[in-house]
Amino acid sequence: MNKDKIKIFLVDDDEDDYIVTKELLAEVEEREYELEWASSYEDALELIGSKQYDVFLFDYNLGAHSGLDLLKEVINHDCTTPVIMLTGQGNNETDIEAMNAGAADYLSKSEINSYLLDRSVRYAIKNKKAEDRILHMAYYDSLTNLPNRTLFNDRLKQALAHGERNSSNLAVLFLDLDNFKRINDTFEHRAGDLLLQGISDRIIKCLRTSDTVSRPVLNSVSNTVARLGGDEFTILLSEIESAESAAKVAQRVLTSITHPFLIEGHEVYISGSIGIAIYPLDGEDADHLLRNADTAMYHAKEQGKNNFQFYKQSMNASAFERLMMENSLRKAIEHQELLLYYQPRMELSTNRVVATEALIRWQHPELGLFPPGKFIPLAEDTGLIIPIGEWVLNTACKQNWTWQQGGKSDTHMAVSLNISGEQFKHSSLIQVVEKVLDDSGLPPASLELEITETVIMKDAESTIKMLEKLKSMGVQLSMDDFGTGYSSFNYLKKFPLDIVKIDRSFVQDITKNKEDATIVKAMIAMAHSLNLRVVAEGVETGEQLQFLREIGCDEMQGYLLSPPVPVDEVTNFFLFEIDLEEAVHSGSNGRNGTQKK
Ligand code: C2E
Ligand code: MG
Ligand code: MG
Repeated sequence: MNKDKIKIFLVDDDEDDYIVTKELLAEVEEREYELEWASSYEDALELIGSKQYDVFLFDYNLGAHSGLDLLKEVINHDCTTPVIMLTGQGNNETDIEAMNAGAADYLSKSEINSYLLDRSVRYAIKNKKAEDRILHMAYYDSLTNLPNRTLFNDRLKQALAHGERNSSNLAVLFLDLDNFKRINDTFEHRAGDLLLQGISDRIIKCLRTSDTVSRPVLNSVSNTVARLGGDEFTILLSEIESAESAAKVAQRVLTSITHPFLIEGHEVYISGSIGIAIYPLDGEDADHLLRNADTAMYHAKEQGKNNFQFYKQSMNASAFERLMMENSLRKAIEHQELLLYYQPRMELSTNRVVATEALIRWQHPELGLFPPGKFIPLAEDTGLIIPIGEWVLNTACKQNWTWQQGGKSDTHMAVSLNISGEQFKHSSLIQVVEKVLDDSGLPPASLELEITETVIMKDAESTIKMLEKLKSMGVQLSMDDFGTGYSSFNYLKKFPLDIVKIDRSFVQDITKNKEDATIVKAMIAMAHSLNLRVVAEGVETGEQLQFLREIGCDEMQGYLLSPPVPVDEVTNFFLFEIDLEEAVHSGSNGRNGTQKK
């Protein structure tokens, strides 16, 4: 930007007015002006926040919108650029309205000339700071510097409009301090003020903590903390992904304010009660949402204070449950509650176990054993899958190397691990795999990573790069649950895979349903033409096994051989030739009595 020039942004739906304005500005000899122009409200919205202007000139009439709407947007974007409103002749009301809303000046279009325009612009720039202060006083609480009720309402309305357009959810949290009066009664009034300031700082910090609670959309419009007065605060969370996200913020705020405040040499303890209302469930306009959040806050008080409550009682249970789950999952690694079960995989040509798949379980101290389906999605949502995934890698690699070294298994027996999409998105995966192989001593060829089709397809280009890196390290790669995603032959060709695992849903009816049989045959042929090994998942019967042998499947995994079992039990399957057919006839599985040395 040329610093000597004064940059003006004109929003006017009439091109003639733009040309006139440009000419008027050019007539000013003392200063150089640069004029940019947008003809619609929508175009203007995009540009307002994106560039630095010295002054805005808004036409009052902008089709369906008014320059006043635009002015409010400017204010809500925390943009301090002064706005001069261009109004019609003798329209006193709109002039006053514009000034009240925070315009720096107004100019009547019919009376405008070069001198007036130049003077108004200079005046606006010069007084920008003073105007800012006045604006600030109108919209902010002087004690905490937080937005006040007016600004909160404005932002809420704006967020609601956004929510309606995008069908997104938002939450209003209403916080009231517990027994705040006691503080004011015990200490000087000043102590109460300092406490309110301290609380305001902590709430803001809680919202800044980065997590996936909400995506900021329009900077300041996204999340807002306000002080309504007294000891009442409100928080607007725009674009929450679930009620749990709001619960999480509420809990974080409550926890943060219970830490003591040091005020004028005294340790002061305080707690709060929060009510939560969710749009659109608990109200579709600002008034209803605020009122319902307030009501919910009273429920929280009734529940003994220092807690949060949703307006809809039904939500309290589910949000709480999930929150508890998340909290305990966070501690699960540290408390050694995670464990791996192993499911053996047999090669059909040799009848020997060539790999085991590590499948995670969570031994919850009170709730018992959780299968992965019950907590992996939560781990993925909360980012906990990253440390959990690392733990799985570490544990499984060390275990497999221990088996190999201790002569418990074949030296080439592989361990396969499931890698979730979230892990795959993380660039650290390569380093983690490298480190784990290094630390454990396991040869890379003994590690197999299972990735599902959907993950592979999501971002094909970057996925190929990542897979190639893993491949160059010597790690084996397999496509899990094959057939449930896109199953594109073209894609399969592009990815540096070694193994394809046909999903259980195809194997299930392979002997009953001709179509499934045909599909599986085709899958095997296709995979073989690409030099990929084929594993059938979920083999449960001798007939299925028989059929899979006939059509040239390479390996099988499933209950017929063994379900996933704890670490000590799986070694029973190693180092033996297994006769599953005989096992079927004798009614047992491969583990019991039909092993051949
Ligand atoms: P998957 O990788 O397809 O694993 C196979 C699932 O099928 C396992 O369920 C296994 O118990 C089950 N299964 C195996 N054979 C049979 C059979 O003959 N019949 C039937 N009905 N089921 C069979 P599990 O252990 O509950 O795991 C479910 C999924 O959770 C896995 O599907 C995998 O996608 C995921 N998972 C497991 N461990 C991890 C992990 O450490 N990390 C990640 N990201 N995901 C994991
Ligand atoms: Mg798997
Ligand atoms: Mg699978």
